[in-house]
Amino acid sequence: MKRPRSEALYRAARRVLPGGVNSPVRAFRSVGGTPVFMRSGSGARLTDADGREYLDYCLSWGPLILGHCRPEVVKAACKAARIGSTFGAPTEGETRLAEAIREAYPSMELLRLTSSGTEAAMSVLRAARAFTGRDLVLKFSGCYHGHADSMLVAAGSGAATLGEPNSEGVPASWAQTTLVADYNDIAGLKKVFKRWGARIAAVIVEPVAANMGLVLPEPGFLETLRDLTRHHGALLVFDEVITGFRLAYGGAQSVYGILPDLTCLGKIIGGGYPMGAYGGRRDVMGHIAPLGCAYQAGTLSGNPVAVAAGLETLRLLIKEDPYERVAALAETLAAGLRREAARAGVPAQVHQAASMLTVFFTRKPVRDWPSADCCDRKAYARFFHGLLDNGVYFPPAQFETAMLSSCHTERDVERTLKAAARAFAAV
Ligand SMILES: *Cc1c(COP(=O)(O)O)cnc(C)c1O
Repeated sequence: MKRPRSEALYRAARRVLPGGVNSPVRAFRSVGGTPVFMRSGSGARLTDADGREYLDYCLSWGPLILGHCRPEVVKAACKAARIGSTFGAPTEGETRLAEAIREAYPSMELLRLTSSGTEAAMSVLRAARAFTGRDLVLKFSGCYHGHADSMLVAAGSGAATLGEPNSEGVPASWAQTTLVADYNDIAGLKKVFKRWGARIAAVIVEPVAANMGLVLPEPGFLETLRDLTRHHGALLVFDEVITGFRLAYGGAQSVYGILPDLTCLGKIIGGGYPMGAYGGRRDVMGHIAPLGCAYQAGTLSGNPVAVAAGLETLRLLIKEDPYERVAALAETLAAGLRREAARAGVPAQVHQAASMLTVFFTRKPVRDWPSADCCDRKAYARFFHGLLDNGVYFPPAQFETAMLSSCHTERDVERTLKAAARAFAAV
């Protein structure tokens, strides 16, 4: 399908931006073709630079649980922008947003607002290291915690060894402060703790993983994490940047009933504007400056426009409580995708939780990064373009999670399944 305006904009962008984008997955490298430049969004719909319309299941990777340009959120942001976009001094809204977050996440006794999820994740680890006086952090392969140096790390060779950089520009010595284990691997976890337990400051985990495609924690995984960290004096950090206010209003910690010591948030809490937050136990957060000596700051942290949009988003989520309805819709979509894949004879695993879902192109169950990594990325690319050409915008990469918003309707899902039937046939 021709998109001459996107082509031209992409050519111009590549002259000034690396790969033409400000975040790599936008460049369509894993699905091929020219990235679609967007012009506007409204509810569940996107309009591209050529004037074509799409049903949006990417939703800016998570923030837009109320869809694009929800009028009340736009109004709140505009109102804030008109009276002062930033002061570099405290404002009342920041306290109100922090209170609203703590109400939903009582484990976040003290919290700080940042401008992105990356900042929240890297700062939360600093807090954990400051509190424990330990250096090592354990993460899981396939989980994403932003692009801070110590998180761009893959498992070293052999079990229970220190990590290796999986990005250029990350010093090997930095990567060696990170241990990497497989998601859902309880035996592996026990091994890591047996060897390194006394040196681990924190374990950071996506309680429901959404950055290797959607992978749910198996029974006992989060419980084991909670027990092992407690036993070894390490802190448990839930990265709920995606799951926060999406899996449920209270996030994965409310659904699974497991309380982490620390939590990071992002995406939805900014209502579509730049925002992150981290927080948790008062004794741990007491190490953050100016209370303590772990430094962390931000010129635009707690930005009034983002705070206003976030507050309005949370207010609407409480008032309308869309979670059950959107989850039911996502379930219908997931069931339909399984049916259409089977009909087309395409091996696929469809995972769904609340308003999130992923179609994995593989015969085998997916439970961790090694099993996700077996997926047929080329099949996903054909599926993606099949959807795109039929007016449906899915995330442009196999290992991302599709999202629904409160604006998606049953008719939208029906239309999506018709497009999916064609897309699977083209796989
Ligand atoms: C998106 C994401 C981040 C990073 O947030 P940014 O706002 O993109 O910096 C961190 N952790 C998880 C789980 C995420 O999904």
